[in-house]
Amino acid sequence: MSNLRPSSRARETIEQKTVRYLAEGRVTVKAVTPAGVEAQVQGSSPAPYTTRLQGGRWSCSCPAWRNRCTHITAVRLVTSDPEQKQR
Ligand SMILES: [Zn+2]
Repeated sequence: MSNLRPSSRARETIEQKTVRYLAEGRVTVKAVTPAGVEAQVQGSSPAPYTTRLQGGRWSCSCPAWRNRCTHITAVRLVTSDPEQKQR
């Protein structure tokens, strides 16, 4: 029950990675408007990914965004996307 020893070698969960990205200042929100959100997130590649909310849909320029990517998760957290709070 109390076997929750942190293991530094364990893979980060998407939540842990998201918090780390925010703590490291990797998320730059470029614009928040009634129409949507545009942000850049510095991921693992040298060029930042562009993460957008347009027409109620999130998208990201990274290869894995359809599989709930860290970038969208991070931008949703800082922009207080209401959908995030329903989960
Ligand atoms: Zn992404």
